[in-house]
Amino acid sequence: MISFDIGLSGQRLSFDDAVLSHFDRHRQTRFWHREAGGLLFARLALPMVEVCAITGPRRTDSRSRYSYWPDERAEQREIDEMFSRNLHFVGCWHTHPEDVPTPSRVDTRNITDCVRRSQHALNGFVMAIIGRAPSPGGLFVSVCDASNVHVLRACSRALPATEQLARRCEC
Ligand SMILES: [Zn+2]
Repeated sequence: MISFDIGLSGQRLSFDDAVLSHFDRHRQTRFWHREAGGLLFARLALPMVEVCAITGPRRTDSRSRYSYWPDERAEQREIDEMFSRNLHFVGCWHTHPEDVPTPSRVDTRNITDCVRRSQHALNGFVMAIIGRAPSPGGLFVSVCDASNVHVLRACSRALPATEQLARRCEC
């Protein structure tokens, strides 16, 4: 399990081992591997937000080495189904073919769509990007609100809990 403090909110985000192994299985370690992605679901026991369920990639997603477009209808079905099991949609994940990933402009723009579509008690929306390096080094985790992407650092490190990217969302 890896956990992160969410800024000064007092909330803490964690990823279960099953979720971390799912990330690990989809790392783009070979040049023919395509981007993969899906949704993240959490059990809310505030201040703990425990990401314990994950979906994707799906056969109906559109995927290439440098792009990933999810099947949005399938996503909605997953959100409804998980909600009936008391698991809350808290964010998205996808892979990048780079060792230590950083969000692209498209990623930053798309995440605000997700913010609009989700309703939950978390202070923002999680965007996880999985690079080629094993986690935690290759794992980019952020919480996004309507205008900013806040990068989270794993709790085990002695760095500030959040660091605001200079970049602002463009929508
Ligand atoms: Zn991306």
